Amino acid sequence: MSSRKKLIAGNWKMNKTASDGAALVSELVATIGKQTDVEVVLCPPFTGLESAAKALDGSTLKLGAQNMHFEPSGAFTGEVSAPMLRALFTTHVILGHSERRSYFAETDALINKKVLAALKNQLRPILCVGESLAERESGATLKVVQTQTEAALEGVAKDQAASLVIAYEPVWAIGTGKVATTEQAQEVHAFIRGLLTKLFTEPVAQKIRILYGGSMKPANAPELLAQKDIDGGLIGGASLEARSFVELVKAAAAVV
Ligand code: PEP
Repeated sequence: MSSRKKLIAGNWKMNKTASDGAALVSELVATIGKQTDVEVVLCPPFTGLESAAKALDGSTLKLGAQNMHFEPSGAFTGEVSAPMLRALFTTHVILGHSERRSYFAETDALINKKVLAALKNQLRPILCVGESLAERESGATLKVVQTQTEAALEGVAKDQAASLVIAYEPVWAIGTGKVATTEQAQEVHAFIRGLLTKLFTEPVAQKIRILYGGSMKPANAPELLAQKDIDGGLIGGASLEARSFVELVKAAAAVV
């Protein structure tokens, strides 16, 4: 059994108004707001952060953003910075999600700047990496994951690394209903743990949570979460409803 506490993070993407989000958070607080076996992070859109922060106040649930700019302030119309997120009690930030990489042309170099800025501002990055279907089929999965991970973590100091969270999200499994097999997922998670060991030493790598993301649902979660190097999940679709999200948190608690 691993000493890493399981982490379940909900990525709401561009869903829910501020009031709809607050209602969902209130439902979650009522059912899982006091549990401590699993770390739970909710990531609403920027417009929902403040109302979500109020709704989860006094609970064990934590707040994450889905993106940020790497500069602390300035002429970057439409962007939001790490200090702004911190001021709304945000503790985590998803960086390098495949939708940001593909629809908004985010490169590894840009993601690296964001990771460094997040850490500088005491925000925990949830760094997403993962291969496309074509890359998996051509046998390039591990190479792609290695390039993305190493590039995004360049310059991260060993003493900051334990607060990182990595999410392995095979792009072909996101929102498609196709889930990686437990063997496929565990293979990549163990590979990422090996990369982290080389970058930051074994004791540090053992502290870093590596989440699986891609059509994780209550039905497939127990088997995935039981794998040695799968420390939780980054959940899209199933995080939008209290019932499925609570079931996922319970599934993670059951393998603690
Ligand atoms: C995601 O977007 O991070 C994700 C894992 O989505 P889904 O669970 O819907 O596949």
